[in-house]
Amino acid sequence: MTFAAPTLDLDRPAGSPLRPLVDPFARPITYLRVSVTDRCDFRCVYCMAEHMAFLPKADLLTLEELDRLCSAFVTRGVRKLRLTGGEPLVRRGIMTLVGSLSRHLKTGALEELTLTTNGSQLPKYARELADHGVKRINVSLDTLDPDKFRAITRWGEVDKVIAGIDAAQAAGLHVKINAVALKGVNEDELGGLIAWAHGRGMDITVIEVMPLGDIGEDRLTQYLPLSMVRARLAERFSFEDLDHSSGGPARYVRVKETGGRLGFITPMTHNFCESCNRVRVTCTGTLYMCLGQEDAADLRSPLRTSEANDALYTAIDEAILRKPKGHDFVIDRRHKRPALSRHMSVTGG
Ligand code: SAM
Ligand code: SF4
Repeated sequence: MTFAAPTLDLDRPAGSPLRPLVDPFARPITYLRVSVTDRCDFRCVYCMAEHMAFLPKADLLTLEELDRLCSAFVTRGVRKLRLTGGEPLVRRGIMTLVGSLSRHLKTGALEELTLTTNGSQLPKYARELADHGVKRINVSLDTLDPDKFRAITRWGEVDKVIAGIDAAQAAGLHVKINAVALKGVNEDELGGLIAWAHGRGMDITVIEVMPLGDIGEDRLTQYLPLSMVRARLAERFSFEDLDHSSGGPARYVRVKETGGRLGFITPMTHNFCESCNRVRVTCTGTLYMCLGQEDAADLRSPLRTSEANDALYTAIDEAILRKPKGHDFVIDRRHKRPALSRHMSVTGG
Protein backbone atom coordinates (compact mmCIF):
# COMPACT_ATOMS: atom_id res chain seq x y z
CA MET A 1 0.00 0.00 0.00
CA THR A 2 1.37 3.42 -0.90
CA PHE A 3 0.13 6.73 0.40
CA ALA A 4 0.85 10.12 -1.17
CA ALA A 5 3.12 12.41 0.86
CA PRO A 6 1.62 15.82 1.66
CA THR A 7 3.61 18.98 1.15
CA LEU A 8 4.45 20.70 4.40
CA ASP A 9 4.22 24.44 4.20
CA LEU A 10 3.64 26.09 7.55
CA ASP A 11 4.89 29.53 6.57
CA ARG A 12 1.93 30.38 4.43
CA PRO A 13 0.17 33.62 5.41
CA ALA A 14 -3.17 33.77 7.23
CA GLY A 15 -5.92 33.28 4.68
CA SER A 16 -4.01 30.50 2.96
CA PRO A 17 -5.71 27.13 3.37
CA LEU A 18 -2.45 25.65 4.67
CA ARG A 19 -1.77 28.00 7.58
CA PRO A 20 -1.24 26.40 11.02
CA LEU A 21 -4.32 25.74 13.11
CA VAL A 22 -4.98 28.21 15.94
CA ASP A 23 -8.21 28.23 17.94
CA PRO A 24 -10.20 31.32 19.03
CA PHE A 25 -8.33 31.40 22.36
CA ALA A 26 -4.97 31.65 20.53
CA ARG A 27 -4.07 28.04 21.35
CA PRO A 28 -2.10 26.43 18.48
CA ILE A 29 -3.43 22.97 17.66
CA THR A 30 -0.33 20.81 17.45
CA TYR A 31 -1.48 17.51 18.92
CA LEU A 32 -3.90 15.06 17.31
CA ARG A 33 -5.22 11.91 18.91
CA VAL A 34 -6.73 9.47 16.49
CA SER A 35 -8.89 6.56 17.49
CA VAL A 36 -8.20 3.98 14.80
CA THR A 37 -10.83 1.49 15.98
CA ASP A 38 -13.63 1.30 18.53
CA ARG A 39 -12.94 -2.40 19.07
CA CYS A 40 -10.86 -3.90 21.82
CA ASP A 41 -9.76 -7.28 23.12
CA PHE A 42 -10.60 -6.15 26.69
CA ARG A 43 -13.78 -4.71 28.21
CA CYS A 44 -12.52 -2.54 31.07
CA VAL A 45 -15.38 -1.86 33.46
CA TYR A 46 -14.91 1.94 33.43
CA CYS A 47 -14.57 2.11 29.65
CA MET A 48 -17.02 -0.29 28.03
CA ALA A 49 -20.18 -2.19 28.78
CA GLU A 50 -19.76 -5.97 28.67
CA HIS A 51 -21.83 -6.29 25.53
CA MET A 52 -20.79 -3.42 23.36
CA ALA A 53 -22.42 -2.71 20.02
CA PHE A 54 -19.46 -1.89 17.79
CA LEU A 55 -19.65 0.29 14.72
CA PRO A 56 -20.38 -1.24 11.32
CA LYS A 57 -17.16 -1.65 9.34
CA ALA A 58 -18.43 0.58 6.51
CA ASP A 59 -18.57 3.51 8.93
CA LEU A 60 -14.89 3.20 9.80
CA LEU A 61 -12.29 5.18 7.95
CA THR A 62 -10.08 2.95 5.84
CA LEU A 63 -6.36 2.90 6.55
CA GLU A 64 -5.86 5.12 3.49
CA GLU A 65 -8.44 7.59 4.78
CA LEU A 66 -6.86 7.59 8.24
CA ASP A 67 -3.50 8.26 6.66
CA ARG A 68 -4.90 11.09 4.54
CA LEU A 69 -6.65 12.63 7.51
CA CYS A 70 -3.59 12.47 9.78
CA SER A 71 -1.39 13.81 7.00
CA ALA A 72 -3.77 16.73 6.44
CA PHE A 73 -3.41 17.65 10.11
CA VAL A 74 0.38 17.29 9.88
CA THR A 75 0.33 19.63 6.89
CA ARG A 76 -1.62 22.08 9.05
CA GLY A 77 0.95 22.05 11.82
CA VAL A 78 0.21 19.04 14.00
CA ARG A 79 3.55 17.93 15.47
CA LYS A 80 2.45 15.06 17.66
CA LEU A 81 0.21 12.22 16.65
CA ARG A 82 -1.12 9.64 19.08
CA LEU A 83 -2.93 6.53 17.84
CA THR A 84 -5.45 5.18 20.27
CA GLY A 85 -8.80 3.43 20.33
CA GLY A 86 -10.37 1.08 21.35
CA GLU A 87 -7.22 -0.92 21.17
CA PRO A 88 -5.14 0.50 18.30
CA LEU A 89 -3.08 -2.67 17.93
CA VAL A 90 -6.13 -4.83 17.15
CA ARG A 91 -6.97 -2.77 14.05
CA ARG A 92 -6.14 -4.96 11.06
CA GLY A 93 -3.24 -3.53 9.06
CA ILE A 94 -2.30 -1.08 11.82
CA MET A 95 1.42 -1.50 11.08
CA THR A 96 0.82 -0.38 7.48
CA LEU A 97 -0.63 2.84 8.84
CA VAL A 98 2.19 3.30 11.36
CA GLY A 99 4.77 2.62 8.64
CA SER A 100 3.12 5.05 6.30
CA LEU A 101 2.76 7.82 8.91
CA SER A 102 6.40 7.38 9.86
CA ARG A 103 7.35 9.22 6.66
CA HIS A 104 6.40 12.44 8.45
CA LEU A 105 8.94 11.63 11.17
CA LYS A 106 11.60 11.21 8.50
CA THR A 107 10.81 14.60 6.93
CA GLY A 108 10.75 16.24 10.36
CA ALA A 109 7.16 17.42 9.82
CA LEU A 110 6.12 15.28 12.76
CA GLU A 111 7.99 15.39 16.05
CA GLU A 112 6.42 12.35 17.59
CA LEU A 113 4.33 9.37 16.57
CA THR A 114 3.08 7.46 19.55
CA LEU A 115 0.27 5.30 20.82
CA THR A 116 -1.77 4.37 23.85
CA THR A 117 -2.29 0.65 24.16
CA ASN A 118 -3.47 -1.95 26.61
CA GLY A 119 -0.22 -3.80 25.87
CA SER A 120 -1.72 -7.16 24.94
CA GLN A 121 -0.40 -7.08 21.36
CA LEU A 122 3.01 -5.61 22.16
CA PRO A 123 4.87 -8.94 22.09
CA LYS A 124 3.86 -9.06 18.41
CA TYR A 125 4.37 -5.41 17.46
CA ALA A 126 6.88 -3.71 19.78
CA ARG A 127 9.90 -4.25 17.52
CA GLU A 128 8.08 -3.04 14.42
CA LEU A 129 6.85 0.05 16.22
CA ALA A 130 10.41 0.91 17.22
CA ASP A 131 11.61 0.24 13.66
CA HIS A 132 9.04 2.74 12.40
CA GLY A 133 10.43 5.47 14.64
CA VAL A 134 8.01 5.22 17.55
CA LYS A 135 10.01 6.15 20.64
CA ARG A 136 7.52 6.27 23.49
CA ILE A 137 4.25 4.52 24.19
CA ASN A 138 1.67 4.60 26.96
CA VAL A 139 0.54 1.27 28.35
CA SER A 140 -2.60 1.13 30.47
CA LEU A 141 -2.30 -1.09 33.51
CA ASP A 142 -4.40 -0.62 36.63
CA THR A 143 -3.23 -3.58 38.71
CA LEU A 144 -0.55 -6.29 38.83
CA ASP A 145 -2.89 -8.74 40.53
CA PRO A 146 -4.07 -11.33 37.95
CA ASP A 147 -7.53 -11.75 39.50
CA LYS A 148 -8.15 -8.04 39.84
CA PHE A 149 -6.84 -7.51 36.33
CA ARG A 150 -9.33 -10.03 35.01
CA ALA A 151 -12.11 -8.38 37.00
CA ILE A 152 -11.26 -4.91 35.66
CA THR A 153 -10.77 -5.94 32.03
CA ARG A 154 -13.48 -8.63 32.24
CA TRP A 155 -11.18 -11.25 30.65
CA GLY A 156 -7.67 -9.86 30.14
CA GLU A 157 -4.50 -11.58 31.36
CA VAL A 158 -2.01 -9.42 33.18
CA ASP A 159 0.90 -11.71 32.24
CA LYS A 160 0.37 -10.92 28.58
CA VAL A 161 0.48 -7.21 29.28
CA ILE A 162 3.65 -7.58 31.31
CA ALA A 163 5.17 -9.64 28.48
CA GLY A 164 4.17 -6.78 26.17
CA ILE A 165 5.92 -4.26 28.40
CA ASP A 166 9.01 -6.51 28.45
CA ALA A 167 8.96 -6.62 24.64
CA ALA A 168 8.53 -2.86 24.37
CA GLN A 169 11.44 -2.16 26.69
CA ALA A 170 13.59 -4.75 24.92
CA ALA A 171 12.85 -2.95 21.64
CA GLY A 172 14.06 0.31 23.21
CA LEU A 173 10.64 1.95 23.58
CA HIS A 174 10.10 4.25 26.55
CA VAL A 175 7.00 3.05 28.35
CA LYS A 176 4.75 5.16 30.52
CA ILE A 177 2.12 3.39 32.57
CA ASN A 178 -1.40 4.81 32.85
CA ALA A 179 -3.46 3.57 35.77
CA VAL A 180 -7.06 4.55 36.43
CA ALA A 181 -7.75 4.94 40.16
CA LEU A 182 -10.79 2.87 41.07
CA LYS A 183 -12.50 3.08 44.41
CA GLY A 184 -12.31 -0.18 46.33
CA VAL A 185 -10.56 -1.93 43.46
CA ASN A 186 -6.96 -0.82 43.06
CA GLU A 187 -6.73 2.02 45.56
CA ASP A 188 -4.70 -0.09 48.02
CA GLU A 189 -2.35 -1.13 45.28
CA LEU A 190 -1.38 2.13 43.67
CA GLY A 191 1.72 2.59 45.87
CA GLY A 192 2.98 -0.86 44.87
CA LEU A 193 2.24 -0.18 41.21
CA ILE A 194 4.21 3.06 41.36
CA ALA A 195 7.19 1.35 43.01
CA TRP A 196 7.03 -1.42 40.39
CA ALA A 197 6.87 1.01 37.44
CA HIS A 198 9.69 3.15 38.78
CA GLY A 199 11.75 0.05 39.49
CA ARG A 200 11.55 -0.72 35.77
CA GLY A 201 12.46 2.82 34.75
CA MET A 202 8.92 3.75 33.69
CA ASP A 203 6.96 6.92 34.49
CA ILE A 204 3.45 6.33 35.74
CA THR A 205 0.35 8.49 35.61
CA VAL A 206 -2.70 7.96 37.77
CA ILE A 207 -5.96 8.94 36.09
CA GLU A 208 -9.21 9.94 37.71
CA VAL A 209 -12.17 8.09 36.26
CA MET A 210 -14.22 10.18 33.83
CA PRO A 211 -17.97 9.90 33.23
CA LEU A 212 -17.87 8.92 29.57
CA GLY A 213 -20.44 6.59 28.06
CA ASP A 214 -22.97 4.26 29.59
CA ILE A 215 -21.06 1.33 31.05
CA GLY A 216 -23.95 -0.44 32.71
CA GLU A 217 -22.65 0.42 36.20
CA ASP A 218 -23.01 3.26 38.63
CA ARG A 219 -20.11 5.69 38.18
CA LEU A 220 -20.25 6.69 41.83
CA THR A 221 -19.03 3.26 42.82
CA GLN A 222 -15.86 3.77 40.72
CA TYR A 223 -15.05 7.40 41.37
CA LEU A 224 -12.05 8.07 43.58
CA PRO A 225 -10.84 11.67 43.70
CA LEU A 226 -7.11 11.92 43.10
CA SER A 227 -6.80 14.35 46.02
CA MET A 228 -7.53 11.32 48.22
CA VAL A 229 -5.15 9.10 46.25
CA ARG A 230 -2.40 11.65 46.56
CA ALA A 231 -2.95 12.14 50.30
CA ARG A 232 -2.77 8.38 50.81
CA LEU A 233 0.38 8.01 48.69
CA ALA A 234 1.97 10.86 50.63
CA GLU A 235 1.93 8.60 53.72
CA ARG A 236 4.36 6.29 51.91
CA PHE A 237 6.27 8.57 49.52
CA SER A 238 7.60 12.11 49.54
CA PHE A 239 6.88 14.19 46.47
CA GLU A 240 8.77 16.98 44.84
CA ASP A 241 6.75 19.10 42.38
CA LEU A 242 8.09 19.09 38.85
CA ASP A 243 7.55 21.53 36.03
CA HIS A 244 7.80 18.63 33.59
CA SER A 245 4.88 18.62 31.21
CA SER A 246 4.17 16.05 28.53
CA GLY A 247 2.10 18.70 26.74
CA GLY A 248 -0.92 17.04 28.33
CA PRO A 249 -3.06 17.52 31.38
CA ALA A 250 -0.87 15.56 33.81
CA ARG A 251 0.78 17.32 36.75
CA TYR A 252 4.04 15.61 37.65
CA VAL A 253 5.95 15.01 40.86
CA ARG A 254 9.25 13.25 41.50
CA VAL A 255 8.93 10.45 44.06
CA LYS A 256 12.00 10.88 46.24
CA GLU A 257 12.11 7.27 47.42
CA THR A 258 12.16 5.81 43.90
CA GLY A 259 13.58 8.69 41.86
CA GLY A 260 10.77 8.12 39.33
CA ARG A 261 8.17 10.46 37.91
CA LEU A 262 4.52 10.29 38.84
CA GLY A 263 1.72 12.15 37.07
CA PHE A 264 -1.82 12.92 38.16
CA ILE A 265 -4.56 13.51 35.63
CA THR A 266 -7.55 15.07 37.34
CA PRO A 267 -10.09 16.06 34.74
CA MET A 268 -12.85 16.08 37.35
CA THR A 269 -11.25 18.28 39.95
CA HIS A 270 -8.72 20.32 38.06
CA ASN A 271 -9.12 22.45 35.00
CA PHE A 272 -6.28 21.94 32.54
CA CYS A 273 -8.01 23.43 29.53
CA GLU A 274 -6.14 26.73 29.32
CA SER A 275 -3.10 25.11 27.72
CA CYS A 276 -5.01 22.59 25.59
CA ASN A 277 -3.29 22.10 22.23
CA ARG A 278 -5.14 18.97 21.17
CA VAL A 279 -8.09 17.69 19.21
CA ARG A 280 -9.37 14.17 18.68
CA VAL A 281 -10.67 12.26 15.70
CA THR A 282 -12.71 9.08 15.99
CA CYS A 283 -12.36 6.05 13.75
CA THR A 284 -15.38 7.28 11.79
CA GLY A 285 -13.74 10.62 11.07
CA THR A 286 -15.61 12.70 13.62
CA LEU A 287 -13.50 15.52 14.99
CA TYR A 288 -14.01 16.40 18.64
CA MET A 289 -12.56 19.72 19.59
CA CYS A 290 -12.82 18.90 23.32
CA LEU A 291 -12.88 15.55 25.13
CA GLY A 292 -15.54 16.88 27.48
CA GLN A 293 -17.98 18.49 25.05
CA GLU A 294 -20.47 17.07 22.57
CA ASP A 295 -19.72 19.48 19.72
CA ALA A 296 -18.10 17.69 16.79
CA ALA A 297 -17.44 17.99 13.08
CA ASP A 298 -17.76 15.36 10.38
CA LEU A 299 -14.53 14.95 8.43
CA ARG A 300 -15.50 11.71 6.73
CA SER A 301 -17.82 13.38 4.22
CA PRO A 302 -15.22 15.86 2.95
CA LEU A 303 -12.69 12.99 2.86
CA ARG A 304 -15.02 10.82 0.81
CA THR A 305 -16.58 13.40 -1.48
CA SER A 306 -13.36 14.68 -2.96
CA GLU A 307 -9.87 13.42 -3.61
CA ALA A 308 -8.53 16.92 -3.11
CA ASN A 309 -8.14 18.15 0.47
CA ASP A 310 -9.77 21.60 0.06
CA ALA A 311 -13.12 20.59 1.56
CA LEU A 312 -11.34 18.71 4.34
CA TYR A 313 -9.26 21.77 5.27
CA THR A 314 -12.37 23.95 5.25
CA ALA A 315 -14.19 21.53 7.57
CA ILE A 316 -11.17 21.42 9.91
CA ASP A 317 -10.89 25.22 9.94
CA GLU A 318 -14.57 25.67 10.71
CA ALA A 319 -14.35 23.15 13.54
CA ILE A 320 -11.24 24.64 15.13
CA LEU A 321 -13.03 28.00 15.25
CA ARG A 322 -15.58 26.30 17.52
CA LYS A 323 -13.04 24.78 19.93
CA PRO A 324 -14.45 25.62 23.36
CA LYS A 325 -12.51 27.21 26.15
CA GLY A 326 -12.94 24.20 28.43
CA HIS A 327 -15.12 21.46 29.81
CA ASP A 328 -17.05 20.73 32.95
CA PHE A 329 -17.42 17.09 33.90
CA VAL A 330 -19.72 16.25 36.78
CA ILE A 331 -20.10 13.11 38.86
CA ASP A 332 -22.34 13.58 41.85
CA ARG A 333 -25.42 12.05 43.33
CA ARG A 334 -27.74 14.15 41.23
CA HIS A 335 -25.90 13.33 37.98
CA LYS A 336 -25.61 9.57 37.80
CA ARG A 337 -25.92 9.63 34.05
CA PRO A 338 -22.67 9.85 32.10
CA ALA A 339 -21.72 13.49 31.46
CA LEU A 340 -21.26 12.48 27.86
CA SER A 341 -23.00 9.73 26.01
CA ARG A 342 -19.99 8.55 24.01
CA HIS A 343 -17.50 6.05 25.41
CA MET A 344 -13.81 6.73 25.91
CA SER A 345 -13.17 3.95 23.40
CA VAL A 346 -14.90 6.06 20.73
CA THR A 347 -13.00 9.30 21.30
CA GLY A 348 -9.81 7.62 22.44
CA GLY A 349 -8.01 8.29 25.71
N1 SAM B 1 -7.03 0.48 24.66
C1 SAM B 1 -5.99 1.43 24.89
C2 SAM B 1 -5.65 1.49 26.35
O1 SAM B 1 -6.40 0.97 27.17
O2 SAM B 1 -4.62 2.09 26.67
C3 SAM B 1 -6.26 2.81 24.37
C4 SAM B 1 -7.64 3.37 24.53
S1 SAM B 1 -8.17 3.64 26.19
C5 SAM B 1 -9.78 4.30 25.93
C6 SAM B 1 -7.14 5.00 26.66
C7 SAM B 1 -7.07 5.31 28.13
O3 SAM B 1 -8.31 5.75 28.57
C8 SAM B 1 -6.68 4.14 28.99
O4 SAM B 1 -5.56 4.50 29.78
C9 SAM B 1 -7.88 3.91 29.86
O5 SAM B 1 -7.54 3.46 31.12
C10 SAM B 1 -8.49 5.28 29.89
N2 SAM B 1 -9.92 5.30 30.17
C11 SAM B 1 -10.91 4.60 29.57
N3 SAM B 1 -12.11 4.92 30.08
C12 SAM B 1 -11.89 5.86 31.02
C13 SAM B 1 -12.71 6.59 31.91
N4 SAM B 1 -14.03 6.43 31.92
N5 SAM B 1 -12.12 7.46 32.75
C14 SAM B 1 -10.77 7.65 32.75
N6 SAM B 1 -9.94 7.00 31.94
C15 SAM B 1 -10.49 6.10 31.09
FE1 SF4 C 1 -10.07 -1.52 25.78
FE2 SF4 C 1 -8.47 0.45 26.51
FE3 SF4 C 1 -11.13 0.62 26.92
FE4 SF4 C 1 -9.74 -1.11 28.34
S1 SF4 C 1 -9.50 1.12 28.39
S2 SF4 C 1 -11.68 -1.54 27.28
S3 SF4 C 1 -8.17 -1.74 26.97
S4 SF4 C 1 -10.12 0.56 25.00
